[in-house]
Amino acid sequence: MADDCIFCKIVNKTLPAEILYEDDDVVAFSDIHPQAPTHFLVIPKKHIPTLDDIGKEDRSVVGQMLVVAADLSRKKGIAERGYRQIINCREFGGQLVFHLHLHILGGRQLGKMG
Ligand code: AMP
Ligand code: ZN
Repeated sequence: MADDCIFCKIVNKTLPAEILYEDDDVVAFSDIHPQAPTHFLVIPKKHIPTLDDIGKEDRSVVGQMLVVAADLSRKKGIAERGYRQIINCREFGGQLVFHLHLHILGGRQLGKMG
């Protein structure tokens, strides 16, 4: 838990979010500024600042993020036509919130990257 982290506040329920799924390790919620018809985030409950901070001890939680993302994508009906998952890392990756989060975007043709 980091005191000034908005995603820790969502984990702790001190900041509201549209929670889609929660278990002991991860939380999924809708992105507040969606970039596609479906746009949600999956985060670890543990405060891991960036993708560059994950270690061997995080293997299961990072795996669970992918499993939950895939499951919710099927439930939201975006899996059949396809979707994109993104993790931005630090400045050049365009990261704005420094609590690891996996973006899932779908519901429209996302086009080529870049
Ligand atoms: P990134 O640039 O990868 O750090 O993306 C941060 C994402 O968090 C953006 O897509 C924001 O719209 C989203 N975001 C920021 N604050 C909130 C919030 N309170 N609830 C839901 N999503 C948020
Ligand atoms: Zn945090």
